[in-house]
Amino acid sequence: MHKGLLIVISGPSGVGKGVICRCLLNQRPELKVSVSATTRAMREGETEGVNYFFKSKDEFKRMIADNAFLEYTEIFGSHYYGTPHAYVQEQQCLGNDVILEIDVQGAMSVKKRCPDAVFIFIAPPSMSTLRCRLVGRGTESPEAVQRRFDTAFKEMKWIGEYDYIVVNDVLEDAVKQIDSIVTAEKLRVQRNEILIQRLQEGEML
Ligand code: 5GP
Repeated sequence: MHKGLLIVISGPSGVGKGVICRCLLNQRPELKVSVSATTRAMREGETEGVNYFFKSKDEFKRMIADNAFLEYTEIFGSHYYGTPHAYVQEQQCLGNDVILEIDVQGAMSVKKRCPDAVFIFIAPPSMSTLRCRLVGRGTESPEAVQRRFDTAFKEMKWIGEYDYIVVNDVLEDAVKQIDSIVTAEKLRVQRNEILIQRLQEGEML
């Protein structure tokens, strides 16, 4: 069986990664989304084990010591976020495609460990649109919004390290584009070695 695809999606806070991933899942229910661990507080409407596994700093540090993460980062200078390794490995081995919605630093760590993953950067149509979206969300203090905006600005410098850039202007278009990327990536010759070997060996099914 072929290993599932690892799809890494990054983009600044407020760009709409969460909504895009949810829409993508509606279209491709077979996709698996990795649930990250974080030390940040739970927001209204979030559920343990669905949005995140919410951990104390000590618990998170214990997971680091146990080598439980594929990658982890400290974001916004105060909170840890990490991708539990076991789930990703398990799903990929079952042949399932897995999505990681992680920040740029995390994506770069994954790139080192899993160079065959697909890296997609979701960008806003403009930085002013991003600021409006961050303010409009109303979940953070003005200082926190500014911190997220500054981080977003720095993240833009990393776009060149990604395989694809998708602009989230019209949501449906962005989802369609990511869907097309996944389809194309699954058709890559390097990802279809078993089929090719069978054909080349003349196997009659
Ligand atoms: P939020 O606090 O808004 O849920 O997420 C803040 C940032 O953390 C987002 O850019 C999100 O992509 C990133 N993030 C979420 N989970 C992980 C993770 O497991 N690893 C890394 N490196 N970043 C993550």
